[in-house]
Order: sequence, then structure tokens, then C-alpha cells
Amino acid sequence: MTKAVVVGSSIYESDVMSRFKNLFSFVPMIWVYEQKGGLGCNYFIENFDVGQIEYQNVAEILSDFDLIIITSKVSEQLIEIINDLKKAKIDLANFPYYVACKNEQTVNINVNFGSDISPMQVNSCIAQVLDNLKSSGYEVNFAISTEEYLKVFSVIESYKYPDFTIKLSFNSKDVDKSYELDNSNYNGIIKLIIQDLKEYARDVVNKERYIKRDILDYGSKDKKNIHVFETSRGKFLFKTCDRSYIKISDDYFKMIEAYETYDIKKLTEDFSYSTLEYFNMLRSWERQKSKEFLALTSSKYVKISNMNDVILSLLGKRRCNLRCKYCFSGHEFEEVTRLSDEEVIKIANHVITGNTEINLHLDNYIGGEPTTDFEDYQRMHYLLTYYHKSCNISTSFGFLTNGLGITKEQLLWLKENNPYVGFSLDGCERVNNKIRVDKTGKGAYKKTVKSIKLLRSMDWPVQIGVSCVVTAQSLNIKRTFLHFIHNMDIHNVVIKPVRASSNKDFALNMSDFHLLKNGYKVLFKYIYKKAKAGDISYLKSMLMPLDYAGRFFIRVFMGDRVIVKRCGAGEHIHSVGNDACIYPCDSFNGVKEMMLADTRKDEQYNNFKVPFVTFDEKLTDCKSCWARYLCGGVCQYVQYVNNYEYNSVIKMECELAKYLIESSINFWIMANEEFSQETLKEIGEHITKIGFKPAKSKYSFFYAPC
Ligand code: SF4
Ligand code: SF4
Repeated sequence: MTKAVVVGSSIYESDVMSRFKNLFSFVPMIWVYEQKGGLGCNYFIENFDVGQIEYQNVAEILSDFDLIIITSKVSEQLIEIINDLKKAKIDLANFPYYVACKNEQTVNINVNFGSDISPMQVNSCIAQVLDNLKSSGYEVNFAISTEEYLKVFSVIESYKYPDFTIKLSFNSKDVDKSYELDNSNYNGIIKLIIQDLKEYARDVVNKERYIKRDILDYGSKDKKNIHVFETSRGKFLFKTCDRSYIKISDDYFKMIEAYETYDIKKLTEDFSYSTLEYFNMLRSWERQKSKEFLALTSSKYVKISNMNDVILSLLGKRRCNLRCKYCFSGHEFEEVTRLSDEEVIKIANHVITGNTEINLHLDNYIGGEPTTDFEDYQRMHYLLTYYHKSCNISTSFGFLTNGLGITKEQLLWLKENNPYVGFSLDGCERVNNKIRVDKTGKGAYKKTVKSIKLLRSMDWPVQIGVSCVVTAQSLNIKRTFLHFIHNMDIHNVVIKPVRASSNKDFALNMSDFHLLKNGYKVLFKYIYKKAKAGDISYLKSMLMPLDYAGRFFIRVFMGDRVIVKRCGAGEHIHSVGNDACIYPCDSFNGVKEMMLADTRKDEQYNNFKVPFVTFDEKLTDCKSCWARYLCGGVCQYVQYVNNYEYNSVIKMECELAKYLIESSINFWIMANEEFSQETLKEIGEHITKIGFKPAKSKYSFFYAPC
């Protein structure tokens, strides 16, 4: 696909920009603006401020694109850079607005701009007319007569979709319609021009033809950008790139159904032009945004807002006193020797690569089970705390334990140094003991609970958490969730579906989907009922960043982040084995073919990156999925253990994500209607408190957590 970059001189020329964006709506565009004084450039797509770039990097950025469009006067220095690149180029810096056109399907209009109208207002008038007509589904272009402009537009034409076109000309000699536009009637006249042109368009474009083209367009490009669904509160339309929803009438719902079934007769007979045009307008915005996301994610300058939150997991000796059936740790890798101080520092250096902006989170860094060599845990804690202080890097530590054999002394040290403790537990005794067993096959529930009680008896300063895995053998999610809250007084609950190969009896396959879905449905209903009555404690327990459902609830509530990757494995997530090798994440730890680096040999191997959801995944059609910017795609590890076969396990993961996203949208639709303002405010404050700062803009890119 052709990629274009727009080069201009000021970010304030938005009217000029939108006019040109309109003309070039068929290519994804990134805009580079030169600042006044020629000191450097700002590089962004609309609201995505990718940041300031140095002059020496401008050439590198521009070389990524096939087409450079210059929309306003820029410095000679920049022109020189552009000329040196020898790329296809269109210079529209001095483009005037008049033309005469001879095409049959042409409406000639004459707009006489009053003397009080500024060039900016002229631009704005043109932009509004073009935007409105084009987003209603009519191809409207400036028509041009001079040879010079024909040359320019021959480049544009070569990229255009071949279709019906209404030519729009301003200030031509032979006019069909004439308008006098001055400051006193500015907005009214623009509306009138739009209305007249639309009527003209409807006359010249036969409805059936319009719908036929529209239907083709819908199926090929837009289906992925909208999603309609029905709830107890009515019918809704979800906009994929905007991640927002609007209520639609029964009529619109029927119309969209007709689009989806390609029912041309119904569309032609049952729906008016204006209904169809409105729908087109909705999709047009999404279509444009989609192109922008694609352009940005295909650029090496793409900015990910949470990139600096680096998670380093040091699995260390991997010794564990349990043999949980779904464990990825690989007990054949268990070691007696520890990673040396030098090795740990070398690994930390490798991961942070000298970036002092980083927030480093160290996860479970003596796993499997950190209590099996607590001394080593303490050594690492002191070592890394000291190291990060000296590098001026903020650090936090995680401590996830099965609790077996944890002593009072260990807890006393943790209370002092790292009180954020999470216990691995999969539910009540019966459920937990099916999966979390020791070498002899005996369930670990009682011992874990005993440790939790011991910790409780010590007047623990912060809330403890629980990490629970749902398998095919534990689908009653509400019961599990409430077991932690009611029976164990634990209120930070993270529940995740198991990651496994389809041949395991505990793996979640499509055959379990109905029960799993129902398990979540019953849980959400309960949480909703409680919150509606003013008790949001249950909701808070679920709104955990790592909880599989909670993450979607948070994303929909916040509405400000575009999830572009399933996770940051290999980029901001790193996992280290007892071989001092770095892997993309804990699940991949020990998988030699996925190894990123061997720090003992000083060798760098794989450059593994999770693909952006905007590009086709190996197995699913994420790039055309309506839920993609809330989901991020399928876990790479699940794909790997299933040999990249689109099997029942992968399908289940995908269907579950869609179900949970739709459920969370539905939850907030109802909550916004029925919860009090105080309750909604309290929920917002809680989400901020657990670490979700509002993003810089509604279109900021993020990786999802694991
Ligand atoms: S994993 Fe499924 S739900 Fe998520 S983006 Fe891909 S297709 Fe959509
Ligand atoms: S989502 Fe999958 S690939 Fe990503 S970090 Fe988690 S287990 Fe690894």
C-alpha cells in the first residue's frame, strides 16, 4: 500500500491540512511539521504526538514513505532533504482554489468570498464541503484546468479508486450555482453549499449504484471498523478505532443487518439517502483512522506509551516444591547454582540498555517458588535495589508464592522490604487440588491457606492478592471469585484462563466456551447488582490490571488507549532462565529457538517482537476484527504451543476476548445509566489509584500486559 507523508510548516495549519487529507484520503498519511525557525520537526499523525525529531533524522523518516506531499512553505534545508530523496513528490504549497471543469457529472459552483474572509476561512470552507460530501460516500474532488495542476493531479489520480465522481469547482466562470460568502453568513452558506451539493449528488448518483458500491466497500474495508450488538438497553454500534459506542435506532440496526446480508433490494427500498449517508459518514471517520493507525504502526517511529515500564522476570534456579499441571517452568531445568551477582547486573544492564526513563518491575525473581531459596531472594533484592538506585531507575518488586513452607522469619523480612505478596491459588480446596499438586500428587490448598493465615496474624500493612488460573475443570468463576472474597478475605483477585496446548485435559477448548462464558456472565451480573446498590468492593476486586476480564473493563471505562499489541514480550517483558539467557516472557523461558540473548556468551539471537494487531497474525484475522484495539491479538505463546494451528484452543481465546469486551461495554452502558455519579467517580478514582493514569490522548498506543 502506498504510504504518504505530509510535510508542512506549522502545526496550526489544521484547516489546510484537513483539506489535503481529504484529497488524499486514499492513502494512509503521516504528517511531519517543521517548526518556526527551522530548528527541528514534530512528527505525528493527527493527535499522536510522536515527538520532536532532530533534523538529521528527518531524511530517515521521510525515506520510509512512497509519496511526499508538501502543503505549505518549508525551509530550504528541508526542501533540499526532500529533493535528495528523489521520491514521488507533490508540491501543493501554493495551490489555489479556482478551476473550471467540463465533466458531465460536474456541478460548477461559484463562491464569491467577501473581502472580510481570510484565506484560512476559504480553506476551512473547502475542507468542510469536501469532508461532508466525501464522508457521505460521494467522491468529490477539485477539478482543475491548468496544465500544471493536471500534472500534479495525475499523481493523485493514479492512486484513486475508480468510481463516480462529482467535480467541485470554486470560482469557475461557468456556474450552475453561485454563493456569496462573507463573515455574517459564513456557517449558514457552507451548510447550504453542502445541502445543494448533496441533492445534486443524489440526482446524478443512482441509489442502487450508490448502495452497490457502498456494500462492496462495507464488506471489504469497513466491516472490521464497526460492530453492532443488542443489549437490554437497546441497540448499539461500536466504533473500532474510536473505541466508543453509540445507541442506534431499530431502523439503523435493520439497515446494518441489510448491509451485512448484502440485501441490495431492501437497502434501496427501505432506507432513505440520508440514512445511508449518515451511516457512511460514521464509517468514513473510522476508515480514515484505521489508515492512520496502520501507517503509524508500520513506521519505526511508532510510540508506545507504556514502553518504559519494563518487566524483568528472573526465574533463577526454577526450583519449586509443587508440580502444578499447567506449569510452564519445566522442572527438568531446576538448578542448584545461583546466577552470580555479575550475571544479574549484566542482565539488568542488557534489559534497560542505559535508559534512565525506565520503570523497572522485577517479577518473582527467584522462581519457580521464591521461598525455596529465600536467601537468594534477599541477595537479589539488595543487589538490584542498590544497582537501580545507582542508575537512578525506579524499581518495584513482585513476590508471587504458593506459600508452601513460608516461615515467620521470611514473612517478617517481606513485611519490612516488600509487602506486596501474591499467593497462587486456584479456588476452593476441591478445585485447587485438582491442579496444584506436589510431587506425590497431593493438593497444596491447606498449606497455602495456612501461610495466608500466618501472614494475616502479622498485621500485614497492605492488601494481599491472589493469582488464580481457570482451567476446563474450574468453570464456575463466580464461586471461585467469591471464595477468595468471602471465605478468605482476599480482595485483589486476578483470574486468568489457562494457557495450554489443546491436547491437555485441563486446556480450555471451544467445547468449554459455553460454560466459561456463562461463568463470567453470572459473575458480572453479581458484581453489577452489588455496585448498583452502592457496594463497589466486588467490582474493585475484579478491576485488576492483570485480571483477564478486569483489563477489558478498565480499557472500556477509560476509553483512552489503543491497544496495539497483545503484550510486550521480548520488548518490554523479558524473562531470564538459570542459564543467564533472556527469553521473550516466562512462558517462553527455556524454549531455545525463542531465546533473545545469551549473556554468558555475549550473544544476541532472536529479535522477537509480538506483531502489531494492525497486521495479519499467523492464525487469526485480528487485523479485521472489530475488537482489535481493545484486545491486541492472540497470545504468541498459545499460538506456539499449538503449533500455529488455528485449533479449538486458539478460537476459544479469541472468542473469549470478544465476549468479555462486549460484556464490559454492556456493563458500562448500564452503569452510566444506573449508577450514581458518586459511584462512577469512585470507580474512576480507584482505577487511577491502581496505576492507570489517563493517556495523553484518546489515540495513544499501548501494549497490553501479559
Ligand atoms: S484475538 Fe480475536 S478478539 Fe482479539 S483482536 Fe484477534 S480476532 Fe479480535
Ligand atoms: S501474552 Fe503470551 S506471549 Fe505475551 S507475555 Fe503473556 S504468555 Fe508471553
